[in-house]
This record gives sequence, C-alpha cells and structure tokens, in this order.
Amino acid sequence: MPTEPNVSQPGVEAAALDAEVIIIGAGVTGVYQLHLLREAGVDVRLVEAGTNVGGTWYWNRYPGARFDSESYSYGYFFSPELLAEWNWSEHFAGQAETEAYVNFVVDKLALRDLMQFGVRIRSAVFDETAATWKLTTEDGTQLRSRFVVAATGVLSAPYWPSIPGRERYQGQACHTGLWPKEPIDFEGKRVAVIGTGASAVQLIPEVAKTVGELVVYQRTPNWNSPLNNGPITDDEQAEIKATYDQIYESCMNSFAGFLHKASRKYAFEESKDERWELYEKLYRQKGFAKLISNYRDMMTNEEANADFSEFIAEKIRSRVNDPAVAEKLIPSDHGFGMRRPPMETFYFEAFNQPNVHLVDLNETPIVTITEAGIETSDGERTFDLIIWGTGFDGFTGALTRMDVVGESGRLLRDQWAGGVVTYLGAMAPGFPNFFIAGGPHVIAGNIPRATEIMVDYITGVLLHARDNALSYVAPDEDACAQWTAEVHEAATVALIAENSWFRGANIPGKPNEYLLYAGSLVNFRQRMAGMGEQGYPGITFGTPVKA
Ligand code: NAP
Repeated sequence: MPTEPNVSQPGVEAAALDAEVIIIGAGVTGVYQLHLLREAGVDVRLVEAGTNVGGTWYWNRYPGARFDSESYSYGYFFSPELLAEWNWSEHFAGQAETEAYVNFVVDKLALRDLMQFGVRIRSAVFDETAATWKLTTEDGTQLRSRFVVAATGVLSAPYWPSIPGRERYQGQACHTGLWPKEPIDFEGKRVAVIGTGASAVQLIPEVAKTVGELVVYQRTPNWNSPLNNGPITDDEQAEIKATYDQIYESCMNSFAGFLHKASRKYAFEESKDERWELYEKLYRQKGFAKLISNYRDMMTNEEANADFSEFIAEKIRSRVNDPAVAEKLIPSDHGFGMRRPPMETFYFEAFNQPNVHLVDLNETPIVTITEAGIETSDGERTFDLIIWGTGFDGFTGALTRMDVVGESGRLLRDQWAGGVVTYLGAMAPGFPNFFIAGGPHVIAGNIPRATEIMVDYITGVLLHARDNALSYVAPDEDACAQWTAEVHEAATVALIAENSWFRGANIPGKPNEYLLYAGSLVNFRQRMAGMGEQGYPGITFGTPVKA
C-alpha cells in the first residue's frame, strides 16, 4: 500500500518554477519525451550539455560511427509524416546522417524553442518541503521544476582508464565518445588506438585507409562479425516506406526490438553440415541476425554457443593473413554474444596492411603514457595521435556523475554504490518526481525502441499526476525491491560474460551486476501498457497541490 508521502507543504506556486518538467538530454529519447509532453500541453523544457541535439549521435562523431540496428528500425515511428519525409540512405546509417535525422525531427516538430544548449547539470536536489527539484548547472545557474526526466543516455559518460601518464602526453588525444567536430586527418600520421570494443572496431578500418602507421592496443578481443551494410536502393526504399507498420510491429513484438526473426530450432537438432550452412547464411545477413536468428539455444547452451563461436573463429582465421595475429583476434575468455558483439566492415582485413600492428596487452602491458606516445613492457612507441576507444561508464555513469540528491539528503551515487535499485528502470527509491528515461535496467536491445516504452510510461505517470493535481510521485520501496530482483532473475537465463560493461565490469569499483533487463521487450511493453488502467501500481502519488 502507498505510504503517506513525506511532504509537509505540498506544493509551490507554478509561477516559482522554471518549468513543470525539465528534461535533461536532447538525444533520441529526450526529444521524444519533449514532444509527448509538449503535445499534452505540459509546461516543459529541455536542457542539453552539447551545442545541438543528437545525444550519442552528437558526441560519437568518430569516423566509422554508425548504427548496427537497421536505420528504419531505429528512428521514430509515431508520426506518419516523419516516416514519409525521411529517406535513410543506408541500411545502417552513419553518424552524420543520424545526427541530421534528429535535427530534422526537432525542426519538423518545432521543438527547438523549448531547448537550451550548452547547459550541463551539475546537481539536482529535491526540495522536500516544496516537492520540487532544484537543478544547478555547471556555471552555477539554478533551475527549478516539479519533475525531472533524465534522458541522459546509457552510454554518455566516457571512460578513460587510469593508465599512468595520460596528462603528460603532448600529441593529440581524443576519446571516441567525445570526438571533436573538426574532422581529424590521419594521412601519414602515426596513430594509436587503445581498446577494441564496438567503437574501435568501427573506427580502425576507417583510420587504416589513410594512416601512416596504426598501432592497436588490445586487451580483450571481441567476437566481431560483418555488419553487411549497403545503400538502400529505390525499390528497397519503397518497400520500407510501404511496410513501416509491419517493421514497427515486428520490432515491438520481439525479444530485443530488432527486426530479425528469432529461430525456433535448437542447435544440435541439426547436423554439423546443416549448422554450418545456417551459420554461413547468417554471416552474410545484416547486423544482429547472427545473434537473433541463430539457434534458439545459442545464448543459453554453452555447447551451442561454442559451436557458433568456432564457426566465427574459422572466419577470422580465413580473413587474417598472419596466423599469429588471427589467434590474437579470436576471443578465448567468452563465447559469441556473451559480451556485446561488435559489427564490422573490413575490420580484420585492416590487420593485413603492413602499416597496421596489433599489440596484445596481455603479453606486453602498458607501463605508462609518455610525452610522445605509449610505453609497454616491450618499449616505447611514439604517436601523433592517441585514440581512446575505452568505452563508457554505462547505464549509471551519466546519473552518478551528477550530484542527484533525493529525500533525506540521500545521494543517488551512494545509493547505487552497492548495487542499482530501480522501479521498472524508470525511478529510484527515495528520489520522488525524478524519472529516468533510459538508464540502468533498460531493456536489452534496440535502445530507441526500449526507451520509447519508458517515455510513454513516464508521460502517462506525469499526466496522471497532473490530471489529479498530485505533486508528489514516488516509487514504493517494495515495488523497487521486487523489480530489481526480477531484473537479476532475468539475467540468469542467458550466457553473459563476467567481463562485460553490461555488468559494469569495465569500471573499477563498480558492483558486478547485470545492468539491463533481459526479460524481453515484448513482455515489458505489454506490462507497461497496462499500468495506466491499473492506476500505476508501485507508485505513491502524493498530496494535491494547493491552489
Ligand atoms: P567498450 O566496448 O567498453 O570497449 C572499450 C575498450 O577499451 C575495450 O576493448 C577495453 O578492453 C578497452 N580498455 C578499457 N580499459 C582499458 C585499459 N586500462 N587498457 C587497455 N584497454 C582498455 O566501449 P565502446 O567500444 O565504446 O563500445 C561501448 C558500447 O557502445 C558498445 O558495446 C555498443 O553498445 C555501443 N556502440 C554502439 C555502436 C552502434 O550501435 N553502432 C557503435 C559503437 C559503440 P577490455 O575489453 O579488456 O576491457
């Protein structure tokens, strides 16, 4: 049962607020949230740290950055006009096109006037007396709202490992997740890439095209497989436009929001020849087909997983000329899909170039970054540019790097230090009126499809509060505990590597726990769709605002 909310004076005059709702972040999720609330007549505004919209597609402008879910399964589906007017040029659009798309949507929907750019929120403090949030920006400006929606992204807090000497380096250095707007010319340069995750796997072949010398510093190889991108032909464009309804239904009735059809067969129901035939077919298919359209036990049965992993290993051996380099590029500590499998285009072929070298950090670890380059136990190499493809403090980082202070002075960062607790991934206990539209416990898969469900839900909760003149909205402790247990339970079904950023394993000191909800998008969607009719169970709605 809902408890009596801790609000002694239940509201402040609306005039004292900068907005009823402030959204943080103008990525794909924040833009959708802004649109829905504006359409519903809510007094809403959005603040964004960057100088324009796009979120991930604004910050990650490294060469090669692109979707690995099909473009037409990633964009917004809510407006037939937007769907009709936008033509994706490739099956997997690049960063520039996606950034242009988000700008197109924002302009088309006339949302820009409600946005403020170059505003990074440093702290958000809940005022228990007034049931409002006070946001303080990095330049000290204060904003006040009744509700906050953090659309701060799941991969938006770049991570630099604490390798000694980083500050000493005198050459150019950049992180894939904070790539400069001014393009970098690699022609003739000596370039280092640290890391071999999905970002570096996209970047490396692009750098290799013109670089003088490229050295890739790899700690853990991943199971990379071909993206199989290509331009969308006129016929395909017509087909996509004519079938958007089916594309949407197919994504929203799937496990993870992707287009690919799940297979019904178990791996060892078929002979090796039959399995290899399927694997060959999958290898030539687009994007995540290798994961989703594979045998249904590929992600639950160790042997089935090892079988497909061996097929991919053979492919790597066939594409890399030097057998010793090929072996280094084949993962040995996890199977395919147990960590996020990157999608590649000529990644392995880059290592056949005489000017591209692989350094295995397990054999020769980095000792220090020097003024001129990188020193491993094998000696120093000098570089004009060091690229840090070292990932993100995923899911929680964007929220915990702000000082988010809830009831009784509790800090979100401290609350989650021993493990994340949320209600449906949308709220955290002790942080009333604060919503998370895409953070920890988000559905694993195609992120816009997942956060769309979340934004629809948050919008429903906010409108319910408005329509009933309720100023205080908080998740119940029991509901949070129950949901969090469900998240952990769902994570036990699939094979998931210990050493994965999905578990926070890339960030020293972060608890090792699966940070996504693996209970399926279709189930989550159905559950969330019924919440409004049930009066939003698990949430306490508090005292009405006094007129
Ligand atoms: P990532 O997968 O976390 O990879 C980071 C890399 O840096 C890893 O290879 C890691 O090695 C390495 N690293 C970290 N600390 C290191 C250290 N101290 N010394 C040496 N190496 C170190 O990050 P990411 O590549 O940016 O990708 C993150 C996620 O972003 C992806 O998994 C994906 O979900 C998303 N993404 C999506 C797309 C897309 O949709 N198209 C594209 C790019 C990225 P270890 O593995 O040994 O830790």
